[in-house]
Amino acid sequence: MSSYLQNDQVNTYERNPLGQGPFPCPECGQINLVWVTGDCTLLDGTVVPNLKRLQCSSCQEDFFDHNAMGVIEAHRRKIAHKDTNIQKRKKYDTEVV
Ligand SMILES: [Zn+2]
Repeated sequence: MSSYLQNDQVNTYERNPLGQGPFPCPECGQINLVWVTGDCTLLDGTVVPNLKRLQCSSCQEDFFDHNAMGVIEAHRRKIAHKDTNIQKRKKYDTEVV
């Protein structure tokens, strides 16, 4: 499961004097939300390498900020160009939960 964070929400996190968190998780409420960078598997199975996003170490939920969404869309476009065998392209879902 993944959720898209509103920009003002992310800005709040980035301005947090704690820097890298942890922050309260919007999903489970635990103070376990931290910035992580690494391969991220999306709901449709797409793997985005070295994606920086917020992840809750409690419920494992990923949260994508504006930058992460941009990286994901660029990665999907790259895949779509590379793999011409894909007949049905999935719509770019913004994963608003
Ligand atoms: Zn959580």
